[in-house]
Amino acid sequence: MVIIADAEVAGHRVDVRIDGGRITEIGRRLCGAPVVGAAGGALIPGLHDHHLHLLALAASMTSVAVSPEAAGNGAGLRAALNAASGSWIRATGYHDSVAGPLDRDVLDRLEPRRPVRVQYATGSLWVLNSAALRLVLPPGDLPPCVERDAVGAPTGRIWRGDDWLRGRLPADPPDLGAVGALLARHGVTGVTDTSATTGTAQASLFAAAVQSGNLPQRLTLMSGGRLTAAPEYAVGSVKILLDDHDLPDIDDLVGRIRQARAWGRPVAVHCVTAGELAIILAAFDVEATRPGDRIEHGGVIPVEAIPELRRLGLTVVTQPGFIAERGDRYVREVDPVDLPDLYRCASLIRAGVAVAGSTDAPYSAPDPWSAVAAAISRRTRSGRTIGWDEALPPEAALDLFLGSAEHPAIPRRIAVGMPADLCLLRLPLCEALAAPHAHNVAATLIGGRAVYQAEPLFEPQETAGVLP
Ligand SMILES: [Zn+2]
Repeated sequence: MVIIADAEVAGHRVDVRIDGGRITEIGRRLCGAPVVGAAGGALIPGLHDHHLHLLALAASMTSVAVSPEAAGNGAGLRAALNAASGSWIRATGYHDSVAGPLDRDVLDRLEPRRPVRVQYATGSLWVLNSAALRLVLPPGDLPPCVERDAVGAPTGRIWRGDDWLRGRLPADPPDLGAVGALLARHGVTGVTDTSATTGTAQASLFAAAVQSGNLPQRLTLMSGGRLTAAPEYAVGSVKILLDDHDLPDIDDLVGRIRQARAWGRPVAVHCVTAGELAIILAAFDVEATRPGDRIEHGGVIPVEAIPELRRLGLTVVTQPGFIAERGDRYVREVDPVDLPDLYRCASLIRAGVAVAGSTDAPYSAPDPWSAVAAAISRRTRSGRTIGWDEALPPEAALDLFLGSAEHPAIPRRIAVGMPADLCLLRLPLCEALAAPHAHNVAATLIGGRAVYQAEPLFEPQETAGVLP
């Protein structure tokens, strides 16, 4: 049992009692338990990141960053690859604006000796150099994800081949402990992993990380196929991936939605372009939506699609952080008439569409606070504004990350009876939201247990493992 004293909750200074992993009392001058002074800092529900990829995030933490922001140009790309340590080089975040389209020949010129694999920032494409291809390509027939040129030779480009590739690479267990600690530092107490590639093998890695306490967050797993819930994680929507480069026809998409229904699960459809959105909306005219169905990203939403989203009761899980991190590139590359359609937020909420926030880490920074800042400002790194009328008031921006896994767009509020999944800030909320930043997080509690504290406030707790 612990009392968090003098915390700001919904604008009032109160004490909050935590017992048995839940909030049991909110009032003034509570006593009868060890007291932790909050000094007026805001106590808010722990943040939930509604769309990220934990294994890819773990891998990215030991990868070379080759995004336009990190590598700059071809010379920067070469320098980053050559400076990488290890016998296998793994690079992520690539975009053609760095050094043009990549294939094995381009990579061979940059790094001829060591095996290299470079992932595009979209997450859908890996490019391997010849040294890497020699190690991963099987002798006989090649799987369809391996792109081939006119004469049938592999180009080095592997489309949506994560699963296949993982099976061909040397085993390299991801460090989910580093991910759990990173998320805890950001006040994140729950995550929804939206990877379509999650199957039994990945789920057991997650279960082990939860059991050991390495991954303390409440965990919901999406998957592309069947998946059974376990004490360590809940099972969420069936993730459906679309690729603008190879769009399915509506019948195919309807079939995949029906399959999810047969498993008793909602769907979450990857959707970054207007073309993808049009196909999804058409599919939902054939196979009706059900509660929990989601549009992931909503990268481009034409204004005329907004009433449809509302009518169908779909939740849009957006990533405001892309406006900050990739916005300058969007301004250069996207048709100016389409810019107002990018990562819409306020216009959806005004129209009554359910909206939740996420980082899509590692494809943007695993930091909900920088996403909240971007949702408020809609500013790119260089200070340009994209979709100024999509900007949210600060508390509404934070609400994007306060929903639960089951109801992403309904913000949780501090109340008696709620699980003590909490984020204690150093400052009152309005001050913290004046310049949202993870360094305002003083402590993170999950089930009443401190999983992060900037300075020692709470008693160290030895218990780890599955939470109540
Ligand atoms: Zn994603």
